[in-house]
Amino acid sequence: MRIENEVLLDYSDVLIRPKRSTLGSRKDVDLNRQFTFRNYKPHVDTNVLPDGYPLVYKQEHYNGIPIMASNMDGVGTFEMADALASQNIFTCLVKTYSADELIEFFDTDDYLRTNYVAMSIGTSDDDWCKLQSVIALADGNLKYVCMDIANGYSNHFAQHVRKVRETFPEIVIIAGNVVTGEMTEELILAGADIVKVGIGPGSVCTTRIQTGVGFPQLSAVIDCADAAHGLGGHIIADGGCTCPGDVAKAFAGGADFVMLGGMLAGHDEGGGEVITKQYVTNELARPEELQLKNRVDLGRTWDSGNHIIERKQFVQFYGMSSDAANTKHFGGLKDYRSSEGREVLVPYRGAVADTIQNILGGIRSTCTYVGANQLKQLTKCTTFVRVNNQFNAVYAATTTKV
Ligand code: 5GP
Repeated sequence: MRIENEVLLDYSDVLIRPKRSTLGSRKDVDLNRQFTFRNYKPHVDTNVLPDGYPLVYKQEHYNGIPIMASNMDGVGTFEMADALASQNIFTCLVKTYSADELIEFFDTDDYLRTNYVAMSIGTSDDDWCKLQSVIALADGNLKYVCMDIANGYSNHFAQHVRKVRETFPEIVIIAGNVVTGEMTEELILAGADIVKVGIGPGSVCTTRIQTGVGFPQLSAVIDCADAAHGLGGHIIADGGCTCPGDVAKAFAGGADFVMLGGMLAGHDEGGGEVITKQYVTNELARPEELQLKNRVDLGRTWDSGNHIIERKQFVQFYGMSSDAANTKHFGGLKDYRSSEGREVLVPYRGAVADTIQNILGGIRSTCTYVGANQLKQLTKCTTFVRVNNQFNAVYAATTTKV
């Protein structure tokens, strides 16, 4: 047994120090990034792309706002992918779409789907067959595959990445999850272009509780980004972002992409059932309200004791190794496994576009605070300060709008 005494950091352990800046407005901040991937060898001649492709695709492998929707139920859906791709934001689809569904989705000449959507697989034989079918039958329109297993440290994972790389040089490989520099390097050397970083920080993850295994997410991002960039690779900070400020901290720590689950859950595009709950409050209806006949028009109703009844809408959300996910997709948990995910209700939030606007507004503002006119500059402009207190929560319980 060994103990490492160095202090490692989560997003909540730091703030970003403001700096003198000449930037006039948040509008001046460019959140687009361009990447050329290390191991991907496109088989098309990028000088002769079909008409209609924006010029940018002729130079770089990737150009967009580097936020990703996670391959989780209620987040990584086709509807989410189309909604986000229209804003040049990326989606990793859930692993559970069938080959036929994926072929139908990708077999269109829609450059947004090609450039902003990945299919996801594990390491099973079925997944290998599925990948081969989609590549063969989607008419060359599948560009990204996300190879996702909970523990990217198992030996067979790097071997599997190598096999996919050798068989499909013209596919961008996302692989994870890991949390240390040396394993990031190993996956990149095995053929991954983008390594997914994060073990245990997720909003509906209970790995740290069930196993005691994990790594503080901001430190993982900083270490893995450094290791990846040294080899010309890229990383995704996956999990643990609770607010736009955390997304900004992930980028500031060196993440090329930031993947979100919980922050994108609860929207129409996720496809979950909206559950309405009613709560009898202690608040009494006002006398003038009681005169009115049509309570529903007011958006408020009350019970026979005149207590206001509040309605709240929720959507179910769960970890992909929770009981709920295992029951839905595999008919239950295998008897040698325990659940490592939670099932929760998240507030229903309507269309995802508003949430995205809020997240992007936050990151733009971060950039103006530190004088970064491009997202690319954010990490260079960042000094993290370690803190004991992140924000003032005195009115958290009585907040009416954020
Ligand atoms: P969030 O953005 O919700 O904090 O984290 C999303 C990430 O949590 C996902 O992209 C995935 O890496 C991870 N995740 C999703 N489901 C589970 C689960 O059931 N168990 C664990 N350990 N991690 C999960």
